[in-house]
Amino acid sequence: MTMEAPAVLWFRRDLRLADHAALLTAAGHSKHLLALYVLDERLLQPAGTPRTAFLLDSLRALDAALGGRLLVRRGDPVREVVAAAREIGASAVHVTADLGPYGRRRDEAVAKALAEHRIEWVATGSPYAVTPGRVTKPDGSPYRVFTPFRRAWDRHGWPRPADTSASTVDWVPPRKSGGIPESPALGGMRQPAAGEAAALEVWQEFLDDGIAHYAEERDRPDHEGTTRMSAYLRWGNIHPRTMLADLAGDSSEGAQALRGELCWREFHADVLWHRPETARENYDRRFDRMRHDTGAPAREAFELWCAGRTGFPIVDAGMRQLLAEGWMHNRVRMVVASFLVKDLHLPWWWGARHFMRHLVDGDLASNQLNWQWVAGSGTDAAPYFRIFNPTTQGQKFDPQGDYVRRYVPELRGVAGKAVHVLKERPEGYPVPMVEHAEERQVALQRYGSITGNS
Ligand code: FAD
Repeated sequence: MTMEAPAVLWFRRDLRLADHAALLTAAGHSKHLLALYVLDERLLQPAGTPRTAFLLDSLRALDAALGGRLLVRRGDPVREVVAAAREIGASAVHVTADLGPYGRRRDEAVAKALAEHRIEWVATGSPYAVTPGRVTKPDGSPYRVFTPFRRAWDRHGWPRPADTSASTVDWVPPRKSGGIPESPALGGMRQPAAGEAAALEVWQEFLDDGIAHYAEERDRPDHEGTTRMSAYLRWGNIHPRTMLADLAGDSSEGAQALRGELCWREFHADVLWHRPETARENYDRRFDRMRHDTGAPAREAFELWCAGRTGFPIVDAGMRQLLAEGWMHNRVRMVVASFLVKDLHLPWWWGARHFMRHLVDGDLASNQLNWQWVAGSGTDAAPYFRIFNPTTQGQKFDPQGDYVRRYVPELRGVAGKAVHVLKERPEGYPVPMVEHAEERQVALQRYGSITGNS
């Protein structure tokens, strides 16, 4: 490769310029780079409004940082990437590896098509501190349990953030860009600002004010106790290595807990890399025999769950937070997922699909494998007999009821923690759609028949 021949930097889940390993490699090979993004219907179609809006806003921010030099095309990546590379006589296309099931298939097809035109395919880095597949047991097999994975991940370590910025490169002006489409209207939905600058600002604020309280606050949906970095990580507005570097040397409880959460993200990506079929199928194949409810009453129950009208205040608050903000607090994600699987006996993938459509941070690995974790069919799963009681979860993690009142207007007249155990139902608020104690028994019986404990 000569320094004179231009190259393409094809952006995907790495919509930033700082700490960008593929940009560093590309700039080391070519003086002139074309920045490209391809709007791919296969990814846009299932995304839903919040995620699409966040993506398009991230692209606008990236384009601005590049001085308006981002080429945006729409269509089949095989055709569009090859065409964009050929139009400028590129010697190579550089990417950050995308290791999800679709990303791998797509990249193989693009690399093959480029090879036919003698254009090199160069993948550097990944959206993770440690590339999925790299942390294995000594015998080379993948980890199935989080805690030993985390120890091995810590031992493996990761490089320091790559020193990159827009100014190190001569960006080739695009000849005919399709432009970035208008973001879909969010209909009053509250959304954080997208893009690299916003990501770094939110992260810095958290380092200044949040990290000291993270360990005790992260389970409190009524407080702003978590980083809110998930959508930025999803689109690569920030690389996790940047965050880990900022946490390095901090042995406080908060920093340790946060490193652990970032490691969960890496663990799930690693699992999906080894077992791509777990995006749709049970990781633990014994659960293929699990009896789910799927008929017309089940579909009605599902609709009530989606709308946040179950009659269980913490569940309804969570489901309505999802619709209002495209985001839900982690503790409540676990509670509503448990409710769908263990109180309503519905298939986990119904809930996972609803989450993927509405979450601004919807990520195949984190979503599907967290759902499976709650359902018991995943790696390192919660024991089958651990069934969240939605009422006591509410009392424990939303002790004053503030979270519930924020998202369920019908309950705003009920003061304090009484909101979790309603003596009377305020007008318009539904009665509980099931009796938790009874459904718990049904779940125990069904789970027991799978795991041999009944
Ligand atoms: P923080 O507590 O500040 O955590 C920091 C970062 O660590 C997060 O941004 C995220 O990248 C990572 N993280 C934290 N918890 C987890 C976890 N359990 N698994 C994987 N990564 C984690 N997270 C997603 O990013 N996308 C999803 O689609 C998604 N779906 C989920 C579905 C269910 C049923 C459950 C129980 C959890 C899901 N999570 C998902 C994980 C978690 O709820 C969110 O990452 C978290 O709530 C995001 O808020 P935060 O950035 O403020 O989190």
